[in-house]
Amino acid sequence: MKIKAHWQILISLVLATLMGLLFRSMGKEPGSATDFVNGVVATCEVIGKLFLNLLKMIIVPLVVSSVIAGITSLHGVKGFGRLLSKTAGFYALTSLLAICLGLVLVNVIQPGLVDGGPNEEIRAAFDNHEATDAEKAKVAGAKVSGNEQAGFFDQLSGFFIRMVPSNVVSAAANNGQMLGLIFFSLLFAITMTRLPLPQVAPLRDIFVSLNDVMIKLTQGIMALAPIGVYALIVPVVYETGGGLFVSLGKYFFTVLLALGIHMFVVMPLVIRVLAGVNPWDHFRAMRTALLTAFSTASSSATLPVTMRCVQDNAGVSKSTSSFTLPLGATVNMDGTALYECVAVIFVAQVMGVDMPMAAQFMVVISALLTSVGVAGIPSASLVAIMIILTSSNIPGAETAVVALLAVDRLLDMSRTAVNVFGDSCCALVIAKSEGEKVLENSAS
Ligand code: ASP
Repeated sequence: MKIKAHWQILISLVLATLMGLLFRSMGKEPGSATDFVNGVVATCEVIGKLFLNLLKMIIVPLVVSSVIAGITSLHGVKGFGRLLSKTAGFYALTSLLAICLGLVLVNVIQPGLVDGGPNEEIRAAFDNHEATDAEKAKVAGAKVSGNEQAGFFDQLSGFFIRMVPSNVVSAAANNGQMLGLIFFSLLFAITMTRLPLPQVAPLRDIFVSLNDVMIKLTQGIMALAPIGVYALIVPVVYETGGGLFVSLGKYFFTVLLALGIHMFVVMPLVIRVLAGVNPWDHFRAMRTALLTAFSTASSSATLPVTMRCVQDNAGVSKSTSSFTLPLGATVNMDGTALYECVAVIFVAQVMGVDMPMAAQFMVVISALLTSVGVAGIPSASLVAIMIILTSSNIPGAETAVVALLAVDRLLDMSRTAVNVFGDSCCALVIAKSEGEKVLENSAS
């Protein structure tokens, strides 16, 4: 009997968690068990990295070939303009919904306050947190890659500058520059549709068949997912933990509750209303992609799997999905935007900074703009949180960000799943609005 892919991944997720927990209990005892545990964890890290690299390796050829093959089959630019405005509108609207949800919950639950005043215990935990070298390096990297003093104009102009790369090869080589690669591929494809068909047909056939090869390759790599997921999760469970988790319990709860409501209430309502499909069917269609997003904490690395699920299981056409999904993996991050908003206001509460409505409004706009620029890789929102904290004049930004980073993984995994689900919902709604038959068996 063949076990279905999503079950395989789920089983390996559970087994890896159990093994990580077992290792945690063994690892604390001095002696040979520790060497053994460290050896296994280090091996898992290597295998996990190999799996992630395999997924990332196919992103550039997959994005280029699917955008070009998809757009050239749209026959002309007219349909494309409509698709672009609908997609952009959907992404902006759902991100805003997510941020507002986070804003309401963080104000109601107030995870950073006790009895109306700042939670000194958390503040002390922030101050006493000993940053590891890896955390320090990450924060230093964040400062270099994100301009902390960036105002709204800088954030907005930065987006457009990143969108138009001066060198497409270097954009392709740089993980954070996927927007530039998509822009080039779109221009290339649109230009192809402007030329007479006989002139471009051979080129189009090449991209279509390149895309077919990449799809087959994705399937091959996904056959390794249970092993890859296992190897990724064991070190995460083994290494995370510690006192901060306990003191930040309320904050965890707020973030997870907001993400949960967005994913299981808001987005299902959106697709029910706008696409008339049964949300449960869509969850079923996206199972493998959601589990991969959760395990890898990277929406970019999950993109190949997201595309497979949306096309093969949800029945969205190649042309719609190859436009909406690569763009979504880069610019649309509902979970990240929500998280940024909650994290910034939480830190303000802990630091005793009063945030009137106007200041909170600025946080909402900043979260919306910066989430567009956040790369689809683990803990990437750190840069954005640092930018917003600094531009909102909230003190202790660096200490807080390092401390949050220490407990980020579970939240990162969860918000990445929300990010990927948001992209897939957009593909579904746009496909439906273009008259496509999606989720055929869905009870609408
Ligand atoms: N890990 C997230 C993603 O890949 C980005 C983030 O919020 O850090 O979608």
